[in-house]
This record gives sequence, structure tokens and C-alpha cells, in this order.
Amino acid sequence: MDSSVNLRCPKCGAQMEPIEIAVEGLPIEQLRLCPDCYVVEWNDAKGGHIDQGVPVPKDHLPGGVKSGEA
Ligand SMILES: [Zn+2]
Repeated sequence: MDSSVNLRCPKCGAQMEPIEIAVEGLPIEQLRLCPDCYVVEWNDAKGGHIDQGVPVPKDHLPGGVKSGEA
């Protein structure tokens, strides 16, 4: 078992998924995303941060919205 990735969402308590990204100029480390409520949590030089992400439905793509057609 790898306890280093046993991180729970502070909002809903779900298992968060670690994300590895490289942002130039931003020393973001240990970025995590909650797959249930899309809370994003990360650590940087100032400490821990939490942000509320926005879920994007797959059927709501820009330029392909169909309204009133069933
Ligand atoms: Zn959550």
C-alpha cells in the first residue's frame, strides 16, 4: 500500500487523484483532483490551497449544442 497517495477530498471525502503538471513560473506541487466534486487541492511555497473546479459535461461541447431537438 502506498500511503503517500491516500489523500481524501476535504469536501466530500472521496479518494483524490494526483495530477502531475508542469506550469512555468508556478512551483505547484502535489496537485490533486477530486473525481466526484472536482475540488482541486495543491501545495506551493505558501502552503496548501483548495479550489472548486467546474465539471464539464461531455455533451456540452462548444459549437455543438443542440437545443429543442429531441
Ligand atoms: Zn470531493
